[in-house]
Amino acid sequence: MLLPQKHTGADTTIFSVMSALAAAHGAINLSQGFPDYPIDTRIQQLLKEATAQGFNQYAPMPGLPVLTEQIARQKNRQLNLRVDPSNITICPGASYGIFVTLATVLSKGDEVIILEPAYDAYIPAIEINGGIPVAVPLNYPDFSVDWDRLKAATNAKTKAIIVNTPHNPTGTIWSAADWQQLGALVAGREIMVISDEVYDQIVFDGAKHHSVLQEEALKDQCVAVFSFGKQFHATGWKIGYTIASATITKAIRKVHQFIAFSVNTPAQYALGMFMQQFPDEDSCALLNSKRNLLNQLLAETPFKILQPAAGSYFQVADYSQWKDMPDKEFAQWLTKDAGVATIPLSAFYQHGTDNKLVRFCFAKEDATLRAAIDKIKAKL
Ligand code: PMP
Ligand code: GLN
Repeated sequence: MLLPQKHTGADTTIFSVMSALAAAHGAINLSQGFPDYPIDTRIQQLLKEATAQGFNQYAPMPGLPVLTEQIARQKNRQLNLRVDPSNITICPGASYGIFVTLATVLSKGDEVIILEPAYDAYIPAIEINGGIPVAVPLNYPDFSVDWDRLKAATNAKTKAIIVNTPHNPTGTIWSAADWQQLGALVAGREIMVISDEVYDQIVFDGAKHHSVLQEEALKDQCVAVFSFGKQFHATGWKIGYTIASATITKAIRKVHQFIAFSVNTPAQYALGMFMQQFPDEDSCALLNSKRNLLNQLLAETPFKILQPAAGSYFQVADYSQWKDMPDKEFAQWLTKDAGVATIPLSAFYQHGTDNKLVRFCFAKEDATLRAAIDKIKAKL
């Protein structure tokens, strides 16, 4: 067959679908996770400086040293680690980081466990690389891990587990105790833990991000994946990175060098220089106040918040007291009729589980959030 079916995911991702629907109907777009406010002007300036100073040719395959050094410094300070720049591989986005890790470790027929709801790129990435996704549901409604179910899902064919904290779409975060549980379950078995930590710099209410990299028991069988898109509110820059042991990093690079080889040099320079010049910048306070604002505004509507997001760009809310319709239909109606686009949570489940929930992205100007809730209130 000229064009075989490579995966069972959507023909068009829910993010493209909802953003297009929002544009077609002139709706306020709280669906796809991207900020509507400008990036830091100092980063813009550094990008100009990079091209002017001649950072326009291939970067070294693993990444530009100014950037990998700054990442190591930041991680070591925040997480009390001893990451060396040589453990870091700069990638064209975190999705690629996950994909290249799967491409590195999977053989045909290997099983990969995901915890649902799960970011929609995981299942296609597993399948394209010959793996078989095994979805384990998180507990409802607090989205904590059901450790017994997770344990029961592991077997001799399990090659990897993908976890995500802070979590998209639910905004939950893992504690050190969660990592210990996972360590006790898989340490020493031939199971790779792929930890999607793209929202590591966005945690709220004074909470701390806990990384797989801090779990000693998993250090020889984990890859942590991060994204600058979220950290610097520049999702269009599409730069991320993996951190892993020397052995795993070597294996990942053996694959990476023949797919992407290296990543946009001027952008790496700008990010590295920014982190060097402004080492204490973080986004927690800004996004924390946006989460608070959205939740305060949602309280004036029939939406019910199961729990405030502890991290990420997203708040999940239950609309069942307001409308009795499936979540995809509700999200379409809300976009077309009320003028506010969200993401239906069933899109994050392999078999479309529908708990009557939608996801709001609050990485938006306060005025955008206020205008969106005004539109919702006008439909009550
Ligand atoms: N993982 C999660 C949980 C995400 O929300 C996203 C979306 N940004 C990604 C991975 C992909 O990140 P990137 O844009 O850097 O590929
Ligand atoms: N991560 C973003 C979200 O969850 C979307 C990224 C994309 O559109 N592929 O909304």
